[in-house]
Amino acid sequence: MLLTITNRKQPASDLSFLLHKHPAKVQSVELSAGKAHIFYERADNEECTAVLLLDIDPVGLVRNDGPNGNDFALEQYVNDRPYVASSFMSAAIAKAFSSALNGRCKDKPELVDQPLSLEIKLAVLPVRGGEEFLRRLFEPLGYEVNATNHTLDDTFPKWGQSRYYTVILKNEISVQQLLSHLYVLIPVCDNDKHYWVSQHEVEKLLEKGQDWLDTHPEKEIIVRRYLKHQRSLANKALEVLISKDLEDVVPEEAELAGSEEPEKVVRIHEQRLVAARDALLSAGCKRVVDLGCGEGRLMKLLLAEKAFEYVLGMDVSYRCLEIAKDRLKLERLSEKQSNRVRLIQGSLTYRDKRIEGFDGAALVEVIEHLDRPRLAALERTVFEFAKPGMVVLTTPNAEYNVRFEDYEEGKMRHSDHRFEWTRKEFETWASGIAERYSYEVSFSPVGEVDPEVGALSQMAVFKLKAEKEESLS
Ligand code: SAH
Repeated sequence: MLLTITNRKQPASDLSFLLHKHPAKVQSVELSAGKAHIFYERADNEECTAVLLLDIDPVGLVRNDGPNGNDFALEQYVNDRPYVASSFMSAAIAKAFSSALNGRCKDKPELVDQPLSLEIKLAVLPVRGGEEFLRRLFEPLGYEVNATNHTLDDTFPKWGQSRYYTVILKNEISVQQLLSHLYVLIPVCDNDKHYWVSQHEVEKLLEKGQDWLDTHPEKEIIVRRYLKHQRSLANKALEVLISKDLEDVVPEEAELAGSEEPEKVVRIHEQRLVAARDALLSAGCKRVVDLGCGEGRLMKLLLAEKAFEYVLGMDVSYRCLEIAKDRLKLERLSEKQSNRVRLIQGSLTYRDKRIEGFDGAALVEVIEHLDRPRLAALERTVFEFAKPGMVVLTTPNAEYNVRFEDYEEGKMRHSDHRFEWTRKEFETWASGIAERYSYEVSFSPVGEVDPEVGALSQMAVFKLKAEKEESLS
């Protein structure tokens, strides 16, 4: 089984520094089920091609695997493992190229993050789910995918196609990114069981996937397959991936709630973002705009959902947009992913053509930052001119403030809040808008509901009414 890695960005032999393998030598590493040999096909200024030859020892395999009641009797002796790229290939990559995979380069550390012009070839990759599935895994990461499917047996064409492919992938990324993608996605394609999956695998997956898995549109199936469909482990990993972005949420209520209740405070902002995302999802929105997107927390959640084809973020604050750009890793996205997202600077108090024509819009904890008189301008910008098919809008519930530790009459949750509304005030305002601009509106609490004062936050979902047919006169 061969994996070849080619770099054509000059000086091409930089690849050999990154792989920590000398171009003039053949080197071998021991694996639990065989050996991996590394050598070069070519190493000059124009092109450098490293080859990893995986030499599985079928006897060793049986020894390691042990009998398995579900297999047919000969499976441990007769199988495709020695001839295909599987989790053994991931193990070989981790062992043979451990520095590169972990982002270290002793001699030329400046190369680690540099995108090279890379092409890899996997001689035989089993893909359960076929070429379409293969593309769904690699294309969102920016790869150009070329796959050749093999027949089961050339002499018996009637038997049809096999699940084996020769795969060539091209991309302009760093070697570390390439290896971390292969490490995780090869066993995902194969979807077979070879070794015991433990909690330790969850950690490995999260470590190797840290820069790309949380925003990959197929993250769920990747996690489930990688963890061999062990539901509890997969759920654990998905939970971490989803909450990773929320860890750094330092919401505004923190100022009022004091340091005693940080968990409550993190939870409520998380709940608001999730509630907004779910409202946009269940309305079937494809193109969404996050108005007052702040540091891009909601956008990050939205981009992880493939239902959203395009996500635009707008904020008046340039600084917030810069933080959002980092959080969303806009500079490191593949072309396909980066076409799904834009950040623009703009104010919600002026009509703006760039936010017109969207199915859905979110305004999460934004209105209370505007002076009351400016709110009328926001209303028109959003509901009269931009006129999205639906709007999800949240704002604090002022009644809840009495439950905070250092409550003082009239004190707001954040120094930049210009007002905070009771449930009644919010409902009156929102119903007026719905009436004036032909929307239907419904309200729900966000977060735990206190029987007396309601929830911490409140949410309104507006849906544009279908235009009445012109009556025939
Ligand atoms: N929606 C984000 C941020 C909420 S904070 C979140 O939930 O995480 C409020 C945001 O509204 C700030 O980022 C602020 O810059 C933005 N904002 C305030 N006035 C605005 C205006 N007139 N136009 C656009 N954005 C505005």
